[in-house]
Amino acid sequence: MKAVAVFPHTREVKFIEQEAPRVTEPDHVKVRVLEVGICGTDKEICSFEYGTPPEGSDCLVIGHEALGEVIEVGPAVNKVKVGDLVEPTVRRHCSHPACNPCRAGYPDFCTTGDYTERGIKGLHGFMTEQVVDHERYLHVVPPELRNVGVLTEPLTIAEKAGTQVRHILDRLPWLAHYLQEQAMQHNATAVVLGAGPVGLLGAMKLLQTGFETCVYALPPAPNPGSDIVEAIGGTYYSQGRIPPETQQELFGHIHLIYEATGVSSLAFEMLNLLAPNSIFVMTGVPSLKGAIEVDADLLMRNIVLKNQLVLGTVNASAEDFDTAIKDIGIFRQRWPHALQAIITSRVAPEDAPDLLLGKSSGIKNVISFDTSARTTHRE
Ligand SMILES: [Zn+2]
Ligand SMILES: [Zn+2]
Repeated sequence: MKAVAVFPHTREVKFIEQEAPRVTEPDHVKVRVLEVGICGTDKEICSFEYGTPPEGSDCLVIGHEALGEVIEVGPAVNKVKVGDLVEPTVRRHCSHPACNPCRAGYPDFCTTGDYTERGIKGLHGFMTEQVVDHERYLHVVPPELRNVGVLTEPLTIAEKAGTQVRHILDRLPWLAHYLQEQAMQHNATAVVLGAGPVGLLGAMKLLQTGFETCVYALPPAPNPGSDIVEAIGGTYYSQGRIPPETQQELFGHIHLIYEATGVSSLAFEMLNLLAPNSIFVMTGVPSLKGAIEVDADLLMRNIVLKNQLVLGTVNASAEDFDTAIKDIGIFRQRWPHALQAIITSRVAPEDAPDLLLGKSSGIKNVISFDTSARTTHRE
C-alpha cells in the first residue's frame, strides 16, 4: 500500500510502500482514502520544523485533511456503513485522568499537551491508500459533497472560532436577538486576513453568518483568491495598497477580525483597527523569528478602554466537524464555482513529495488516490 512519509532522522520525505491496516477492534472502520489536502502544517513537517512519528516508527505518514470511503466495518459499528463518505478528525485525547477537556471529549482544549494528532504528532496520517480508525472519530459526508468534502477540515477552524465567538457575544445583551436568529444581517463588519484556504473558507462562513466581509491579503488583485472573494460577495483589499491612514475609513467599524496568515506584524497592526466591544480571532501559527516592535501601550489602552477581546483558537471539536460538513453543503449550493475554485489541483500521490518540498502555487492542492479525479496540471 502506497503512503507519503517523512523520516525526521534522515530528513527525507518519501513515497513508501507499507502494509495495509486491519480492522482489529469491534468499533474499527476501514476507509479507502480518496483525497488528502495539503496545507502549511504538512509543508512545515516536511521541512522538519515539527512532526513526531508514532512510538517505535522511524517515519510519520503525513496528511490530516482527508476524505475517504468506508470499505469495512467492525461488528460494533452502527453509525457508518460500507460505502459512506467520511471525514476523520485529527486530534485524539491525552491519557491524563486530570485533563478535564480531554475527559469531556474536547481534546482541542487539551491542557497537558500530550494529545496525539493523526499525520502530525504521534499517529500516522491519512496520505495513504487505506486507514483504520474508531467509528467515533469519523463524520459522514453526504455523497453530493464528493468533490469538495476535503475542504471540511480547514473549515473546522472557522467553525470552532464561530462557536467560541457566539459564546463570547453572549456578554453583549443587546445582540441577543441577532444571536437567536444566528445572523448578523449585515449590521456587522468582519475583516479576514489572508486569502489562503483557511481565510477564504472563513470569509464564506462570515458571509453566510451575515457579516459584511472584507479579505485583506498580500497578492495584488486580480488573482484566484480575489476572484473567489468577489464571487462570494466579499470585498478584496490588497495588503500594502491601502495607506494606513485610510484603512480605518475603508474597513469602517470592524467588529471581528479573523486572522489566517500567521504573520504577527500584520495581526498587531490590524488589532489597532478593531472597534469597541469587538473580537480579534487568531488562527495562524507564526514560526519564532525573533521579537518584533509593537506599540504595546496603545494596544493595551485599546483592549481595556474598548472592551476588546483577543481570542486564539486551534483544532476543532466533533460538533465543529459536523457543522463544517453542513456548511460545505450550504456553500456548495450558494457558491458552487467559488467553492470548487479553492481546490486548484488534484495530483497523484507519487507527486506529493515534490509538491510538499517545492514552492507550490495555487490555493488548496489535493493529493488524489482516485485516478479518475486527478487534474493533469498544477496551476
Ligand atoms: Zn491542514
Ligand atoms: Zn488532554
